[in-house]
Amino acid sequence: MNENQELPDVVMPHPPHRNLLRGQKALVTGANSGIGRSVAIYLAQEGADVVVNYVSGEVAANEVVNEIKSKGGHAIAIKADVSKEDEVQAMFRQMIAEFGTIDILVNNAGLQRDAPIDEMTLDQWNTVINVNLTGQFLCAREAIREFKRRGVVPGISCAAGKIISMSSVHEVIPWAGHVNYAASKGGVMLMSKSIAQEVAPYRIRVNSVCPGAIRTPINRSAWESPEAHEELMKLIPYKRIGEPEDIGRAVVWLASDDADYINGISLFIDGGMTLYPGFAAGG
Ligand code: NAD
Repeated sequence: MNENQELPDVVMPHPPHRNLLRGQKALVTGANSGIGRSVAIYLAQEGADVVVNYVSGEVAANEVVNEIKSKGGHAIAIKADVSKEDEVQAMFRQMIAEFGTIDILVNNAGLQRDAPIDEMTLDQWNTVINVNLTGQFLCAREAIREFKRRGVVPGISCAAGKIISMSSVHEVIPWAGHVNYAASKGGVMLMSKSIAQEVAPYRIRVNSVCPGAIRTPINRSAWESPEAHEELMKLIPYKRIGEPEDIGRAVVWLASDDADYINGISLFIDGGMTLYPGFAAGG
């Protein structure tokens, strides 16, 4: 194959469903858009009942719920700001009242507030840390309380609970102009691994997923124009942008008993973005 050959942006069609998560209850934060939306739909396709969390965009949240229901799944939408302790606790109370328990938490909600460091306001800093890092702490704490209370349920899962933390390649790649975001994801990495270490004896698994460039609203400017797309491809050895489905499938696997011996990892899903593409020609 010629190195300059045009390569299509293709993702494999949906794999056959194996009902890997039958009987399990899942909560996906920020599930009305992008990666969270795809994760919610994939978890439901494998048999999980799903809470579609949203903070704004109720119509989009209901669309995700309806899509899941139209395929025979079970889902409800719950509004909560993950950075607010009282709203997170109310969301978990509502989930447990409606679904009985929680088996899988996908800590996905996240945002960016970009600015050069000398122009970044404290509000921009705090907003990103509060949602991306503190939000994950608040949800993880509530989930672990329920996992520990309930323990392992034979026939449902080998584990008492699973948490998947949505991190980023920016848990390891520094990112000029986005120091609040990179700091939040670096924090997610060590928070996630430390929680994994702490709760492993209770048969609770905690892993991070680290997307590269995924085609969602959060990074529209990086892929929408042909010029931006061309620049982006310089950072991706695999030469295609990631799709939300690339993440949805990996989350299903990490949450399932197929990944039962996997705990405390960062799974990079980035087409090789973390392979120092600048050195591809020998450095
Ligand atoms: P997105 O903007 O489409 O989705 C983010 C979701 O989080 C939205 O539903 C938004 O409403 C929700 N959210 C924001 N603040 C919230 C709050 N306070 N409470 C509850 N929900 C809130 O973007 P996305 O790309 O799907 O991002 C999902 C996650 O993936 C984020 O954590 C992001 O950092 C991470 N990520 C994305 C990429 C990418 O290239 N798209 C790469 C690496 C990591």
